[in-house]
Amino acid sequence: MPRIAFIGLGRMGHGMAGRYLDAGFTVTLWNRSKAKAEDLIARGAHWATSPEDAAIDADAVVTMVADDEASRAVWLGPKGAAKTAKAGTIAIECSTVSYDHAREMGRELNARSLIYLDCPVTGLPDAAAAGKLTLLVGANAADLDRARPYLEPIGSTIRHFGPVGAGTVYKLINNLMGAIQIAGLAEGLAIAEQAGLDMNLVLESIQAGVAASPQVQRHSKRMVARDFSGATFTTALRHKDAAYAVKLAESLLADKPLVARAAVESYAQAKAAMPDEDEGRLIELVSRPK
Ligand code: NAP
Repeated sequence: MPRIAFIGLGRMGHGMAGRYLDAGFTVTLWNRSKAKAEDLIARGAHWATSPEDAAIDADAVVTMVADDEASRAVWLGPKGAAKTAKAGTIAIECSTVSYDHAREMGRELNARSLIYLDCPVTGLPDAAAAGKLTLLVGANAADLDRARPYLEPIGSTIRHFGPVGAGTVYKLINNLMGAIQIAGLAEGLAIAEQAGLDMNLVLESIQAGVAASPQVQRHSKRMVARDFSGATFTTALRHKDAAYAVKLAESLLADKPLVARAAVESYAQAKAAMPDEDEGRLIELVSRPK
């Protein structure tokens, strides 16, 4: 059976690793904290003592960690997967990283004779556990074809945007637009609350109105009810994605991206106050009365 090394067992990675077990792959796991691997080990996964250990004999290495720093550590750190991955191993970066980082990793791992794809995803943790993510790929077409058997267990849709880095460009604009919508929603709801409107009527109107994207529909219910149970995406991750998008925008656009920078600032404040909480709790900051 194909052998997968899977690195990073957070809200997303845990479910994705389980999909490879369901598909009959031989799965070797590493996560910074081992506790998150225990149930997967009970299902038949092997535990590795480091990313370096996990990559020995792997046909593909999949990473799903927080950010650039974590990605660099698990691939190129002193015990990184690149140390032992054999030539021709497929290196699949599913974490949302910056554009510069994705391209740099492509160069670094290609120089070690690995095949690299940036493959950030859209979908919440329940979609990750069900193998229903949308995979946003940057790779040359031949590399993507070689990687497909390793992508199919985790994704129901594969969108190929172009060469290495292109999947990350799309992921960053997607999440930037999400950040702007959620931050705008929080401020709109806060104004309505402080003005004394009937918030059930406000919610009903938002849900029926033209400004409601699926993102706004989901978060408006949670924000009005102040019900953030089943947290899926933290303020820290939302800030990270928006900040990476602004950095990319600043390298491409003549004018500073004003709206994007405002969303980054909103999420910088939310991250400082509650880094590990649901991103929707931004409303608790912006709704304080004057
Ligand atoms: P999460 O639950 O916070 O998990 C983060 C993972 O990264 C954990 O495995 C964590 O290890 C690991 N990690 C963090 N810093 C590390 C470091 N310095 N060295 C090694 N490992 C490190 O995050 P998540 O929600 O699963 O998100 C993972 C990635 O998917 C992120 O890039 C995120 O932007 C992206 N994403 C998330 C969603 C979502 O809805 N949650 C959707 C699409 C994409 P520990 O377990 O030891 O802390």
